Amino acid sequence: MTLTLRKLIVLGLVAAVFVLANAVLIVDWLREKGVLDVAREIRREYLTGTALTIVVVLLILLVRPRAAGRRCPVCERSLRGWARYCSDCGSRV
Ligand SMILES: [Zn+2]
Repeated sequence: MTLTLRKLIVLGLVAAVFVLANAVLIVDWLREKGVLDVAREIRREYLTGTALTIVVVLLILLVRPRAAGRRCPVCERSLRGWARYCSDCGSRV
């Protein structure tokens, strides 16, 4: 974990706490701007239960199965041991 990543995590946590602490204020502001009505309309029209189920199933099915061990970044062939070159395509890994 690099220092930059740690800083980003801390900034993200601070932002999350700030948003949670002012949730009521943010919701009132969004209601005044009419964003909530638009969001309700979008949810009612496009995010039905069937659509959400299909999206979740596709996300589950489209994740590449993670095999144990390393893989060649070029041809995706699994590498044995600590080989520095792929035995199939010859690229350095
Ligand atoms: Zn390869």
